[in-house]
Amino acid sequence: MHHFHYVNGELYCEQVPVAAIAAAVGTPFYLYSTATLTHHFRVFDQAFADMPHLVCYAVKANSNLAILRLFINQGSGVDIVSGGELYRALQAGVDPGKVVYSGVGKRPEEIRFALEQGILMFNIESSQELVAIDQIAGEMGKQAGIALRVNPDVDPQTHPYISTGLKQNKFGINIEKSLSAYRTARDLPNLEIVGVACHIGSQLTQLSPFIETLGRLKELISRLRQEGIAIRYLDIGGGLGIQYHQEKPPHPLEYGQGIQKELAGLACTLILEPGRVLVGNAGILVTRVLYTKEGEEKFFIIVDAGMNDLSRPSLYGSFHGVQPVVEKPRREVKASLVGPICESGDFLAKDRLLPEFSAGELVAIMSAGAYGFSMSSNYNSRPRVPEILVHKDEFYVIRERETYETLIQGEHIPPFLQQEGKG
Ligand SMILES: *Cc1c(COP(=O)(O)O)cnc(C)c1O
Repeated sequence: MHHFHYVNGELYCEQVPVAAIAAAVGTPFYLYSTATLTHHFRVFDQAFADMPHLVCYAVKANSNLAILRLFINQGSGVDIVSGGELYRALQAGVDPGKVVYSGVGKRPEEIRFALEQGILMFNIESSQELVAIDQIAGEMGKQAGIALRVNPDVDPQTHPYISTGLKQNKFGINIEKSLSAYRTARDLPNLEIVGVACHIGSQLTQLSPFIETLGRLKELISRLRQEGIAIRYLDIGGGLGIQYHQEKPPHPLEYGQGIQKELAGLACTLILEPGRVLVGNAGILVTRVLYTKEGEEKFFIIVDAGMNDLSRPSLYGSFHGVQPVVEKPRREVKASLVGPICESGDFLAKDRLLPEFSAGELVAIMSAGAYGFSMSSNYNSRPRVPEILVHKDEFYVIRERETYETLIQGEHIPPFLQQEGKG
């Protein structure tokens, strides 16, 4: 469910016409709906009401401070993958006791920062990381709460780039080998084992890989407990998919019921790290048609947003719905919707039947709230676009459009280059 809908042929976000926002802030821009975000969080959280649980929103999906605050206000913790994400979450007011830190490449200064803040736990991805965190915690006179992120070797049946729980992926510690890694962890003086963690991939549209994973995790937990290793938290990661096109992912309620049924009697607090399912369909990218052109073999709709603003189509070949902001009777044409970037991979929709747009029209790229702005870049020296949050009949700029000045911020021409003609 989302709050992007047409009223008399005009696209609205909650009670605000999208075209009015475009007139005020220019294009392109990301647009999010407070009601949708709040609704998604509540539905997801309530789906686990039968079990002690903590939702730790995956910051990387959309890391805007206002979005983080919105979830934190709902009681959310966060799943972070860098010191920068920890900094953002703290600025947004997160309780450090609700922070879990994932990722294969945590640097010493990032580990120190997280230990200073007293986060709930590190999800450790290798034996060397185990030793590194123990050493840093020792130097600081602290105990680090840890879980081992195990790799269960389950096929999530999603795009290979966002599949993380297969044994050929770089993530986690092979579940077979994790028992000995846990023994190592138990003997390290500055680590406190608190949990088991796992995350098998993103945009999963079936329940079965999750359930298969839980079976393996339960077995591991009972073996750990037999050895006297107490496990208080089971972190099952994120990954629940959304509908971009014709996918039929399980509803969060179905996901919650399936998981709780499988974990009945486990005596663990469940940690969930949803990203995409909370924000994906709560955001759109609004862009304007600059030109249309009849290529030699193809029809192109050239818009002012490109792969630097929304990279999912070029990176993963992902589908995003394309809708007019103002409806009118029009034909459908086989076309590609492309951006201004100097790359042939710069498309938002490729070889699809699209509404026939003309120059100057506004276009909504749907389901762009997750891995949209957060993956955007300045490639081609394009200032990154603003992010706008609608709340009922008001809209708020939650991130300003970058300027040419911000583009070159921090760049320096060294003195030896400053005198002309002295190459
Ligand atoms: C990316 C990621 C998530 C969130 O994944 P979604 O598919 O957006 O729900 C959760 N946990 C970890 C460890 C991740 O890397």
